[in-house]
Amino acid sequence: MRLSINLSSSSYDIIIENNLLSNIKPYVKEVYKNKKIYIVTDDNVKNLYLDKVIKTLEPDFEVDYVSFPQGEESKNIDVYSKLCEELIDKGIRRNHLLIALGGGVVGDMCGFISATLYRGIPYIGIPTSLLSQMDSSIGGKTGIDFYGKKNILGCFNQPKMVLIDPMTLKTLEKREFNNGMGELIKHAIIGNIELWNNLKNKPEITEEIIYQSLSVKKKVVEADEFDTGLRMILNFGHTFGHVIELKYGYKHGEAVSIGMLMALKLGIDLGVTPKEYYDEMLDILKVYDLPCKYYDYHEYLKDIIHDKKNLSGIINFILVDNIGSTKVYKINEESLKGWLLWML
Ligand code: NAD
Repeated sequence: MRLSINLSSSSYDIIIENNLLSNIKPYVKEVYKNKKIYIVTDDNVKNLYLDKVIKTLEPDFEVDYVSFPQGEESKNIDVYSKLCEELIDKGIRRNHLLIALGGGVVGDMCGFISATLYRGIPYIGIPTSLLSQMDSSIGGKTGIDFYGKKNILGCFNQPKMVLIDPMTLKTLEKREFNNGMGELIKHAIIGNIELWNNLKNKPEITEEIIYQSLSVKKKVVEADEFDTGLRMILNFGHTFGHVIELKYGYKHGEAVSIGMLMALKLGIDLGVTPKEYYDEMLDILKVYDLPCKYYDYHEYLKDIIHDKKNLSGIINFILVDNIGSTKVYKINEESLKGWLLWML
């Protein structure tokens, strides 16, 4: 399956195909005419898939690689510098190609190297985690964590192509898989009723489901390439989720699952969200072993005000009014404080 992402800065295709990892050469050739390729990966994915990818590219391409320890802790400026040094030592030039082989951490890191080293080296994404396949592979956000803050050094940089092989999900740890499901469920509720209904039956995550999930994000990203407005609907569940993630150390997709429940409850209390959606969401989260613990959103409004205090003073709550459709509910900080006093 091929999904085209059409943007003003550059457009690219996402190919979704079982066993694609053994057959990436023709796709790489579509967008890259030179010989030298450098793969960026983490130590975990390196052991699983690097040899396979190199084998499918050689001898038509000359392939080298750099790798770093897996995990979010590596998404920092020291690892970034080290990788750039290694790539320079290995002879990379701006007309060569980078490939990001791994999860969202590898994608963000490689995308940022691609944007900055020699002022731009093209890259192809091969996302291997569920989260990276149906979320971070689209939208062009790249970057690293810096000064104790997530993703604050970065830029928009679109890949030349994205190659998704759903078979790589077979080796993903269950908790990582479910973590990705959190964002997939979010795409369903904000943008695709058919996908939402399908998720109730615990479907296998097929090419078709990844395609449907990506199509929700594609529409939003194409309409708001540089994240200046509409993209905020992708933050459904994130306003509360972010606070929960920081406070209790859940994984991102897990915290978003709790955040979605809280946002649904808020929507119900405000008369925007139909009551039954809360129970439907609970049922779907249970199917994927995602946390369903009840957190009363009132107790976290203060943290949200704190979390957002340096922004414009307006807090946007994304609410679901119908499955597949959202409403942005804007509340300024002062009214929220008043609202808080009134509610408690
Ligand atoms: P990750 O890259 O750390 O991957 C999670 C774990 O799974 C790692 O240990 C990794 O080695 C392993 N892994 C990856 N693929 C595997 C496979 N096929 N089999 C076995 N193990 C595999 O994390 P993630 O959850 O993929 O992504 C999270 C990161 O993505 C965060 O840094 C987040 O900020 C970023 N992100 C970026 C965007 C964006 O738009 N750029 C969007 C969402 C998230």
